[in-house]
Amino acid sequence: MSETSIPIAKLAGVCGWPIHHSLSPVLHNYWLRQAGIRGAYVPFMVKPWDAIRAFRSLKQTTISGVNVTLPLKTSAFRAADEATADAHRIGVANCLFMRDGKLIAHNTDMEGFISPLLQRRGQAWLRQRTALVIGAGGAARAVIGALIAEGVPEIIIVNRTDETADDLVTQAGLPSFYSLPWAQRSLATHRAGLIINASAAGMSGYPALDIDLSRAPETGLVYDLIYTPERTPLIAQAEAQGLETIGGLSMLIGQARPSFRLFYGVEAPASDPSDLLRQALMTGQR
Ligand code: NAP
Repeated sequence: MSETSIPIAKLAGVCGWPIHHSLSPVLHNYWLRQAGIRGAYVPFMVKPWDAIRAFRSLKQTTISGVNVTLPLKTSAFRAADEATADAHRIGVANCLFMRDGKLIAHNTDMEGFISPLLQRRGQAWLRQRTALVIGAGGAARAVIGALIAEGVPEIIIVNRTDETADDLVTQAGLPSFYSLPWAQRSLATHRAGLIINASAAGMSGYPALDIDLSRAPETGLVYDLIYTPERTPLIAQAEAQGLETIGGLSMLIGQARPSFRLFYGVEAPASDPSDLLRQALMTGQR
């Protein structure tokens, strides 16, 4: 067999610092097995201070692409030769892939966030709601970008550090998107048919999100991006009040599907991998 005819396994992965906690390898390798693709998806530790050089060196390899997680999403965006419209919109990348020899920055968090919401309630519902977004980091940018793209008519942002939320509003420059002081977060739920926690509060190792949902509309939906733990204190509070909820596992799966398509050239299998991910979360297996 000549050297050129040896089939090369399709290789992709996820970069972070640290990266041992990521569920993405469990998910992508499960899909690879299900789809019968000869390939692998591996975690890569990438030093934040050397991330741009590390990402650019991908062009010298046969790695077809990588997902990028904290704290490397801005470096990934900066390292790329070009960026897709979704990555440009929010200025951070959670996905790098190769196209015609160039390194392309993309963001699948927007699609990952919005898909479960569209499946659950649809675009017409979204276009009649006020959304309250809690947090102003990278995930909040993706959430806000997706809500604007879907035509949500009013978006309120609150963040523990008020100035960061104010900066996002100034950058966007849209009359339908404004900030309220952190001190008014519980009051703001009164107007919000859709309440989204895009902050780190409630994640394992962090304090619970300090918010009172008792004023939220009865028909409201609470969406927590966090999936460690799966049932966050915010989800528990919402359920106790009879509010509908969406947890972070849905977004994790939603953002992984377009990445899989880009890395391996086929759609991820349609079956729901939530139970597999729950098991990995419980056992700590990666
Ligand atoms: P990030 O850029 O580091 O931003 C963190 C945000 O959380 C900031 O707005 C920060 O406020 C706020 N925050 C931190 N501790 C807080 C506390 N104790 N009380 C209130 N607010 C607090 O992180 P990120 O990338 O946006 O991620 C945010 C969360 O989304 C993480 O929990 C992450 O796991 C989750 N996420 C989930 C998915 C998914 O697929 N399900 C995807 C992306 C992210 P300050 O500005 O005041 O620091």
